[in-house]
Amino acid sequence: MAVIYESVKEAAEQRDRPRHPEKMSNPDSPVLRKPPWLRVKAPTSPGYQGTRKIVRDHNLVTVCEEAGCPNIGECWEKKHATMMIMGDTCTRACAFCNVKTGLPEPLDANEPDNVAKAVQKLGLSHVVITSVDRDDLADGGAAHFAHVIAEIRAASPSTTIEVLTPDFLRKDGALDVVVNAKPDVFNHNLETVPALYLRVRPGARYFASLRLLQNAKEINPSIFTKSGIMVGLGESREEVMQVMDDLRAADVDFLTIGQYLQPTRKHHPIDRFVTPEEFKAFEATAYAKGFLMVSASPLTRSSHHAGDDFQRLKAARSKASGQAH
Ligand code: SF4
Repeated sequence: MAVIYESVKEAAEQRDRPRHPEKMSNPDSPVLRKPPWLRVKAPTSPGYQGTRKIVRDHNLVTVCEEAGCPNIGECWEKKHATMMIMGDTCTRACAFCNVKTGLPEPLDANEPDNVAKAVQKLGLSHVVITSVDRDDLADGGAAHFAHVIAEIRAASPSTTIEVLTPDFLRKDGALDVVVNAKPDVFNHNLETVPALYLRVRPGARYFASLRLLQNAKEINPSIFTKSGIMVGLGESREEVMQVMDDLRAADVDFLTIGQYLQPTRKHHPIDRFVTPEEFKAFEATAYAKGFLMVSASPLTRSSHHAGDDFQRLKAARSKASGQAH
């Protein structure tokens, strides 16, 4: 399954300077055949091409492309692209992630304006902004996030903004800067269960990520908080239940659960394909545990259908607060 290298250009780049030098000595894992529920059409529509042009014209990086997201055909046809700010190179080296690792370039001062212009051109009612990890910056890139939010607000005042941030580990004050820029949704993914952190997300700490989500809600109680995990990495059902409980204890509103897909043979192997029925069971359990919104399916990704989900999230909060009064 999965990517392996999508084009001759990418294969050549890989020879010259591997995207993931730290993974080159990993053993090759067998490539599993995708089950039918994970097969998607190749992206070819005119809408997809139009989105691609806007992204290129504004010199933007998207997580849709960098992560090799399987939903790109569907999302880009509807002009839903998730911008990845602060470059295409990440200072972490997570075992699941296809984003290039290494020492990033300095920040592009024009990026906030470029992102805002692209959001306007795409006519987005809701936008998701994510980034690479920037452990090299004193604030982890928090001020840059805030600039991007401010430029989008100025150019497209009715667009709602969701940020999907790094963990800002050891970056004191960074979270306040992002939350005080008033995004509508604060998303930070736990990615996996705590027992798998050392293998899957070695640069991160489970409880630091959990606390980040809790702190975001404490700084601004009206913000919506969101987090997600991948399944199929080797976690048990009980461990997933525990993550749900931990996220509810941190007052997280929205949970996403999707199937892990292995970007290349050098990445973390897929343990198994979780069936659509198991995802349905996760969804029912998560609702029973009190999440306002849950998206759990094989192709669920943090930013998939994020605009529609945000409307449902707001409605769910209004309904819940009506019932509480
Ligand atoms: S699910 Fe998210 S990352 Fe994937 S294509 Fe859609 S917007 Fe991009």
